[in-house]
Amino acid sequence: MDYDVIIIGAGLGGLVCGTLLAQKGLHVVIFEKKAKVGGCCTSFQRKGFTFDLSVQSIGGCREGEKVWRLLGDLGVRERLELLPLNPAREYRFPGRNFLQYADLNAHVEYLSSLFPQERDGIKEVYRIYRTLAEEIDRLPYTLSWFDPAHVEREFPFIFRYREETLQGLLDTLINDPRLKVILGVRSSYTLLPPSQLSAIAMAVLEMSYLQGGVAVLKGKMDDLPHLLAQRFQEQGGTLQSRMEVKRIILNKKKVTGGVQLKGGEKITSRAVISNADATTTFLKMVGNNSLPPGWSKRLQGMKPSFSYFIIYLGVKGELDLSCSNNEVFPRYDLEEEYRSLEEGKISSNSPYYMLAPSLTNPSHAPEGQSTMCLSYKAPYRLAGGWDEGAKKSLAERLIAQAEGMIPDLRRRIVLQVNSTPLTIERMTGNRCGAAYGWAQIPRQAGVYRLNRVSPIGGLYLAGHWTAPGGGVAAAMASGQITADLVEERLREVA
Ligand SMILES: Cc1cc2nc3c(=O)[nH]c(=O)nc-3n(C[C@H](O)[C@H](O)[C@H](O)COP(=O)(O)OP(=O)(O)OC[C@H]3O[C@@H](n4cnc5c(N)ncnc54)[C@H](O)[C@@H]3O)c2cc1C
Repeated sequence: MDYDVIIIGAGLGGLVCGTLLAQKGLHVVIFEKKAKVGGCCTSFQRKGFTFDLSVQSIGGCREGEKVWRLLGDLGVRERLELLPLNPAREYRFPGRNFLQYADLNAHVEYLSSLFPQERDGIKEVYRIYRTLAEEIDRLPYTLSWFDPAHVEREFPFIFRYREETLQGLLDTLINDPRLKVILGVRSSYTLLPPSQLSAIAMAVLEMSYLQGGVAVLKGKMDDLPHLLAQRFQEQGGTLQSRMEVKRIILNKKKVTGGVQLKGGEKITSRAVISNADATTTFLKMVGNNSLPPGWSKRLQGMKPSFSYFIIYLGVKGELDLSCSNNEVFPRYDLEEEYRSLEEGKISSNSPYYMLAPSLTNPSHAPEGQSTMCLSYKAPYRLAGGWDEGAKKSLAERLIAQAEGMIPDLRRRIVLQVNSTPLTIERMTGNRCGAAYGWAQIPRQAGVYRLNRVSPIGGLYLAGHWTAPGGGVAAAMASGQITADLVEERLREVA
């Protein structure tokens, strides 16, 4: 065998997994098809401005919390600086703004002071979230749904809420329709409406901010994958960038054949871990004929998350904003925009994001200038196509909307870069430009997320297409869980 483990992809899931396996003394190679590591977590520079392609904030970063601990285990925490965001975000609704605190008690108190008659319901929502997140943390990767009595006994909240949507949960505990919108507003981050988002996924997300704390990196976001890549190599790992894996070679339905690279070279290993897009991994690299038919059918019926249309702006002067992360909702409605997205449209009433990264990281812009990212949630297939005209008109609309907050914005723009779901797909290899892997609907979230143990012997997953889910904290956690699992499995057969 050339290696113990081959990892396909140097996104955060692959890098965390590889570094931990190399630390455990295994002989690991990571093949990354791009020149740069990081996948979604990458940054770029234009005319003196720095932009993070996608990731704007990371949950679980407070001292002692999950990402903070993992960065310590990986040996990179001392090499980077985390800048806490608290409040993490400001939500702007007609006539009223709401703050998102990165602190559970402060957040519950804040909402209870706005809706005093709903205090008990608000407390109960967060008690359920906290318990669900705790149960998710102790889920063993060997959990079997064939023994529901055991699951019900050991993980009663997961069992109870496994099919529940966020809207279903809020409807049982909250009366005020506006409070339901405020409590549901973070569903927007998952690119799903409350009526479709898994209650369990929302619990994990809310707790990763409210208990875990949220931060950005001082510098730029792709410093994180670069540090991990450096650490991986210091631990004896081999990183091969600009090396695309084309095929996973099976030998009696196992991956002991290793992989074949784009140039034709074959590399063997005892296990293969894919951090790449799950559909590409199974349907292209493995091949449909080698998959159990029922399993393949389920895979092909799964729904990826939506994506984004983003404009990155370099702006003259400072930005007069109280919070670097803002989301603006033209109405108290979290459902309507998704009806348009399902039809391939971005409605004129769509909420939009306004991020001002240089407010927290002044190094992103030259002296006296600022960076700004404006975005809409976006479908992969836009009705009429993503041609120049469509991009121009969406960008114009975004800038016009943003002038509601920064009146002279258009006049101050010195640089503009537009990005569509096709750009994200091209940059990251994620099908449909999916920002968070599978959409976190109940049948694809929590215990129903695609299993990291695949039906092909020796082939595992790490990253946002498997559990716990989408986002940096979850992709990193998945890398850690998969590393533990693969090490255990390889030890068993040694
Ligand atoms: C626009 C946008 C905004 C986001 N904002 C946030 C945010 O603010 N906070 C947050 O926590 N999360 C955010 N996310 C989500 C987060 O970035 C991702 O969930 C996470 O980074 C995914 O990491 P990953 O390891 O699963 O894989 P990816 O980052 O998708 O990496 C996969 C890697 O595999 C490589 N690869 C693919 N195919 C092959 C092949 N055949 N051979 C070799 N290599 C291959 C790719 O090049 C890539 O490097 C955002 C995502 C997007 C797109």
